[in-house]
Amino acid sequence: MRKVEILYRLQVVDLDLEEKGCRLQDVEARLGESPELLAAREACRAGEAARQRGEAELREHEFLVARVEGKLKEVNAVLYKSNPKQTTKELSNLQKEADLLLQQRGKAEDLALADMDSVEALQADLRRLRQELSEAEVAWRQEQQDLTAQRETLLGEKAELERTRSELAGLADPAQLVVYEGLRRQKGGRAVARVEQSLCTGCRISMALQQVQRARGNPGLTFCSSCGRILYVPH
Ligand SMILES: [Zn+2]
Repeated sequence: MRKVEILYRLQVVDLDLEEKGCRLQDVEARLGESPELLAAREACRAGEAARQRGEAELREHEFLVARVEGKLKEVNAVLYKSNPKQTTKELSNLQKEADLLLQQRGKAEDLALADMDSVEALQADLRRLRQELSEAEVAWRQEQQDLTAQRETLLGEKAELERTRSELAGLADPAQLVVYEGLRRQKGGRAVARVEQSLCTGCRISMALQQVQRARGNPGLTFCSSCGRILYVPH
């Protein structure tokens, strides 16, 4: 294998390694709890809190109904117990109080009824949110399984590529390897450019046939006069 071909193969491996590295990073970033799952869980918690508030309000209004009801009974008891000592004025006041309490009871009952409707609606919301959470959890678990499998595959492929890379690096000329590494950093990972039909594939500039032949025969490195990349002319 020509020395330049080793560098070219090294570049293929390096580009592949870089791509696998990016994919691995992406997979690893998606491992763990997803924003969708967290949002569904949060919505469920909020739904639970809203239902609890609704139930507390209902209890409060039910308590108010009972309290007014109790007072009304007391007033009615006094009102309807025939007591000859009671004046008309006292009776009239008691009647007014009873009327007022009746009004209050009506209002409290209306509030409690409205609360019941609202609790019912909140319970339906909560059932829907719990269903959505459970669906999000199923989807998330499946996704995590897939991601874990992808991660394993990528790690295996990376290890294999790294083995190949160290074999190739071992075969390469050490001085040429230094040039390759330097150019790789400058040229966005593409230090070596194949020559196809007298065209440098690095910069798409066409070369004189002579230059192509020189590059093919050169045991050392030939560089593209336009982009400065190492030229690789396949046989
Ligand atoms: Zn070029």
